[in-house]
Amino acid sequence: MIVRHRWIALLAAPLLSLALPAHAALRVLACEPEWGALAQELGGTLVDVAVATNALQDPHQIQAKPSLIARARNADLVVCTGAELEIGWLPVLLQQSGNAKVQAGQPGNFAAADFVRKLEVPTVLDRSQGDVHAGGNPHIQTDPRNIALVAIALGARLRQLDPAHAADYERRQTDFAQRWQQAITRWSAQAAPLRGMSVVSQHKAFVYLYDWLGLKEVAVLEPKPGVEPTASHLQEVLASLKGSPAKMVLCAAYQDARPSEWLGKNAGVAVVKIPFTVGGSDGAKDLFGLFDDTVARLLAGAAARP
Ligand SMILES: [Zn+2]
Repeated sequence: MIVRHRWIALLAAPLLSLALPAHAALRVLACEPEWGALAQELGGTLVDVAVATNALQDPHQIQAKPSLIARARNADLVVCTGAELEIGWLPVLLQQSGNAKVQAGQPGNFAAADFVRKLEVPTVLDRSQGDVHAGGNPHIQTDPRNIALVAIALGARLRQLDPAHAADYERRQTDFAQRWQQAITRWSAQAAPLRGMSVVSQHKAFVYLYDWLGLKEVAVLEPKPGVEPTASHLQEVLASLKGSPAKMVLCAAYQDARPSEWLGKNAGVAVVKIPFTVGGSDGAKDLFGLFDDTVARLLAGAAARP
């Protein structure tokens, strides 16, 4: 009996650790909801994901609150857009966290924009031209092909930080990549009627979306990136549309839509609110819903007769 008990004790030890409540291997802090959603897709129960901003917050400028600093302090991996999108708050957050693992250049610091081809990279950096980013336009998540590229790099980073679960991450990544490619094919086909259509943007937030779907940006409501639209600039845009009419005006879920609504009313163009990230609309519950809803809203805007 004693011998048998001893055997049970030996067997029970490793079994017990497996039977413990799911203990995530990696603590991830994502700057924006789309990267939180992607980390969750690729990490499943192996990651514990917190997100610094929600879809109704302007990711260019948020407060590094104490709760956020605390989350950064014990993170194993910080996943952000990069390309200076978070330049106003992330460096402060990382510095105040005192967490050596997630500082720039460390494996625990992942910038999604490093892994895609950037658009609107300025040839001359002139900050007087507004919120111009040296690394190009940072709003890369509006093109699902960019999400696919980031997924490859993020999957590799998860395996690097948690090699014990490399096979699990690999499996999840392959599965995600397959479902994502199928979805891109579907979205691209659905959005085919949009190709060549002229649109106005409230903020220069959709260049990657336009690049993917072949939309043509003919005007921007902000006089300079990050500068609120002024009455005089709106009048200029309205006048310019007489020469080159637009079908719709796009604004992101986090933005005050009034400038777009003003243009919609005065220029007779449809106003399309883009979820922009996961949680930006009822339909954008996850990454797949984000693009299902984005494409559906664009098609509805294109078909509307305001
Ligand atoms: Zn921006």
